[in-house]
Amino acid sequence: MTSRTGAAPRIDLHTHSTASDGTLTPAELVRAAAQAGLDVLAITDHDTTAGWAPAVGALPPGLRLVRGAELSCRWSGTEPAVPLHLLAYLFDPDHPELVAELARVRAAREDRGERIVALLRADGIDVSWPDILAGAGGGTVGRPHIAQALIRVGLVGSTREAFGPDWLGERYRLPKDDIDVFRAIRLVRSAGGVPVFAHPRATRRGRVVPDELIAELAAAGLAGLEADHEDHSPAERAHVRALAADLGLLVTGSSDFHGTHKTVQLGEFSTGVEAYERIVAEGVTEVASG
Ligand code: AMP
Ligand code: ZN
Ligand code: FE
Ligand code: FE
Repeated sequence: MTSRTGAAPRIDLHTHSTASDGTLTPAELVRAAAQAGLDVLAITDHDTTAGWAPAVGALPPGLRLVRGAELSCRWSGTEPAVPLHLLAYLFDPDHPELVAELARVRAAREDRGERIVALLRADGIDVSWPDILAGAGGGTVGRPHIAQALIRVGLVGSTREAFGPDWLGERYRLPKDDIDVFRAIRLVRSAGGVPVFAHPRATRRGRVVPDELIAELAAAGLAGLEADHEDHSPAERAHVRALAADLGLLVTGSSDFHGTHKTVQLGEFSTGVEAYERIVAEGVTEVASG
């Protein structure tokens, strides 16, 4: 595969739209990807496939779309459990068990969001759960939507600040009822999808899992590790690459673009064509072409 210009193709395999906590609609996202000069884009909203159809419907000529999702998982091998994110690519969106599990996690997100808002309100902070839900516009609700409410009342100046320790990063951080990561890998594989561990070493977000667990996940069907991500330091990226090589896993790099909820731009980190082709070969869903 080559790009339209004959240069190495530009591949970004992790982005969010308004179907979860991004700020561009799925149609705007695929147009922005073409404008940014990408050849391949994956749409990977949190715990939903709702953005797939509108993204395909708006796909500009020459852009390929990998349909995916980012699953909210946890590893219960330590107390409290470690939350982690699993990218799932090219799976059957109608697989009943997976559909049910995604719906359950979205409900768990609403439950957690409402409890976070109750904690904030108990401390006299004037944020409203109905307003936050409305702000999510029917997409999967997450802490970035609560962050917007904190910005609206003037308590923080940015999403980044809202994720600080005094706010959603620690003081008002509550766990949600995530999917056991081994179950998630089984479900994604049984739905014909390709599971890749998102930002596995992002220590700046909180606790990370040990390498021994990643080896067990590889044995359970994990296909790859995301190495190049803004939340990894250069040393963490190198570590993830070495671990992937040891375990025979593919390596990806991605922007994790969220529109204006983050500063990272589309295509700021990217994936090599070999890893992309391995994902395509293993997935049951076709890559959509514009
Ligand atoms: P949640 O899925 O509700 O637990 O919220 C996690 C989401 O918040 C991540 O997917 C990111 O989109 C966003 N996020 C996490 N940390 C930060 C940060 N430091 N600054 C901005 N957004 C963040
Ligand atoms: Zn997000
Ligand atoms: Fe993530
Ligand atoms: Fe993400």
